[in-house]
Amino acid sequence: MRGWNFSAGPAAIPEEVIQEVKNELLEFKDSGTSIIEVSHRTDLYSELAFESKQDFIEILNIPESHEVLFLQGGATHQFSMIPLNFNNIASNADYVVSGTWSKKAAVEAEKLINVNVIASSEISNFSNFPQYEEWKFSNDSAYVHFCPNETMQGIAMHEAPNFKKHIVADMTSVILSEPLDVKDYSLIYAGAQKNIGPAGLAVVIISKDFMNLANKDLPKILQYAEHSKADSMLNTPPTFSWYVAGKVFKWIKRSGGLEYFQKLNRKKAELLYEYLDSSDFYLNKIEKNQRSIMNITFNLANEHLNGTFLEESKSKNLLNLKGHALVGGMRASIYNAMPLEGVEQLVQFMKEFESKHG
Ligand SMILES: *Cc1c(COP(=O)(O)O)cnc(C)c1O
Repeated sequence: MRGWNFSAGPAAIPEEVIQEVKNELLEFKDSGTSIIEVSHRTDLYSELAFESKQDFIEILNIPESHEVLFLQGGATHQFSMIPLNFNNIASNADYVVSGTWSKKAAVEAEKLINVNVIASSEISNFSNFPQYEEWKFSNDSAYVHFCPNETMQGIAMHEAPNFKKHIVADMTSVILSEPLDVKDYSLIYAGAQKNIGPAGLAVVIISKDFMNLANKDLPKILQYAEHSKADSMLNTPPTFSWYVAGKVFKWIKRSGGLEYFQKLNRKKAELLYEYLDSSDFYLNKIEKNQRSIMNITFNLANEHLNGTFLEESKSKNLLNLKGHALVGGMRASIYNAMPLEGVEQLVQFMKEFESKHG
């Protein structure tokens, strides 16, 4: 029996999508083969690759000025590839350090470009997001990197940035959760395994102008422009992950697009936060306007009950609620694929647990 899966990533995939994959896994569209057994150069595959890219562009309303790439290697590969590509524009890059992921991105970038940390909440152990007004941009940086949704800490920046810099954003845990004004960004990247599909794939949205500024002396496989020229098929792409991602995009479209998911996601998050705020048994100390809609972290006031909470929740089919080891406590990741009912069941369980152990 499938449970309610609150995993941060790899995360829940819509059941409808998994069913479809299951139904056509042995033989895809009368081809005599499974989709995972054919060359990415076949018409069979390239048609679905093209269609999934078109659907992604449609869902996010991506302008002509931007290219979409489907790449191997995940978000970590991206935050390493970005300084490599753009350290020829300037010797510095600006980084906002708001949680574990943006910190990792800054640490890796430091090996390739001078990193200016223009705002950081590390001193408060990432209990808040550095206020946008306080970011101290440098004059001559190649780009500004930030992560609007910190998956481990459950903190987020909900304002869209609007400044005249090359803005680079790690949107791994927030992409496709709500509408987005792509034109404001020079580069957006996301590992697929949170809100897009199976692991092994990263989706990149990059401004063509920005892409053309990049370093051209790198091995092809590390250059965005080369991936773009080859339609993301410079080498073998992660064909299975891309295929499933395409099905997730269709599911988003037929569900009502990003407006629908924005409403649903807010509703799910409000339900859980309202309950957390009404209880002294559970704690979430993040400021209300900086709370993540996707990854909701909380602690039990009595940490000795953590093990019991995880055991009992699991027996109620509420799975993977343990927080990241670096942060502790609990975390409910409620990406698009988590239905409202899953969050209702979680809140119901939490109430019962509180009355039993409180
Ligand atoms: C999960 C996550 C990553 C790491 O993704 P990989 O694909 O495993 O490299 C990076 N950034 C954010 C915001 C994440 O949530």
